[in-house]
Amino acid sequence: MGATTAAESVKQIHYLAASLKAPRITEAAVRLADQARDTGWSFEDYLAAVLEREVSARNASGARQRIRAAGFSAPKTLEDFDFDAQPAIRQQIAALASGAFLAEARNIVLLGPPGTGKTHLATALGVVAARQGHRVLFATATDWVTRLTDAHRAGRLPNELTRLRRYGLIIVDEVGYLPFEQDAANLFFQLVSSRYEHASLVLTSNLPFSGWGGVFGDQAVAAAMIDRIVHHADVLTLKGASYRLRGRGIDSLPSIRTTTAEPEN
Ligand code: ADP
Ligand code: MG
Repeated sequence: MGATTAAESVKQIHYLAASLKAPRITEAAVRLADQARDTGWSFEDYLAAVLEREVSARNASGARQRIRAAGFSAPKTLEDFDFDAQPAIRQQIAALASGAFLAEARNIVLLGPPGTGKTHLATALGVVAARQGHRVLFATATDWVTRLTDAHRAGRLPNELTRLRRYGLIIVDEVGYLPFEQDAANLFFQLVSSRYEHASLVLTSNLPFSGWGGVFGDQAVAAAMIDRIVHHADVLTLKGASYRLRGRGIDSLPSIRTTTAEPEN
């Protein structure tokens, strides 16, 4: 084949890739063709390699888009979590990192004092879900209640709950920082019920379950909700002093008993 023919083919690939809305294919096709000729790939190997580049590029940009859309308060990953500060949960997190909990619609509850990494881990698990193709939404418990209350007032709570079921993962951060009104507790209960055995929730709280009745203003609502949440759930308890305060010569906050603080100089 002459050079002109090859150039013609590249032009056609360029045109066809654009029609497929996969313009990156042109570059991969040209670059991999050289490699294929040099190393004697079969036609099948070559086609698979070109398509593989396109698929991984699409997955990566899909994951980036889903991570942006999730509304995380700060980008955090499992790779940048220091498990030496929380050795007791290393194994549990390693098991969750596969993302298998999402397919099983299992929930994850992260409990522990402030600064121990609950929001970090909740976000990191959200990133795992986004990388695996799940849509993710992150918000504080207070923000969720505002959102559900608005939907309820506008008469579209059922629609909103249905819409939210399309998200493979919903993260509710900071349950217990602020107490809810009775109405809010009921709305929140509906969110939990609508996802029960259908799609995953990750919740974080600085309170043990025994303190949730106070937050929801109703022991019965809290008990029914906790029952649904923990029926298929991993509960992880973080311990110790705030990671934020490490090395500041402050090794405890009021109400926190320090067990692992190692102030560094
Ligand atoms: P919490 O939500 O439990 O109050 P955060 O997850 O917000 O705590 O953690 C506070 C800060 O400390 C964040 O910047 C977080 O990334 C960091 N952090 C906490 N624990 C760890 C850890 N084990 N490894 C790395 N960073 C951590
Ligand atoms: Mg937090």
